[in-house]
Amino acid sequence: MDKNCIPYGSDVSGGRFKCQDCGHEMVMASASSLPPCPFYKEDTHPKKCWKNLTGRGDAPEDPYPGK
Ligand SMILES: [Zn+2]
Repeated sequence: MDKNCIPYGSDVSGGRFKCQDCGHEMVMASASSLPPCPFYKEDTHPKKCWKNLTGRGDAPEDPYPGK
């Protein structure tokens, strides 16, 4: 998966993300699927993806072993 453009709805392990279309930043506290950008509009958000700033990005493995 491209950490620079992770599509909406992808499962990630948490971390900090930046909207590739408008630059909005958000923090995901725990592993979940990426929501659409809160400022999403079809005409302003052609990429529909987030850039992963911290964390692993996608979540093939458990980021919190032992939990
Ligand atoms: Zn956005």
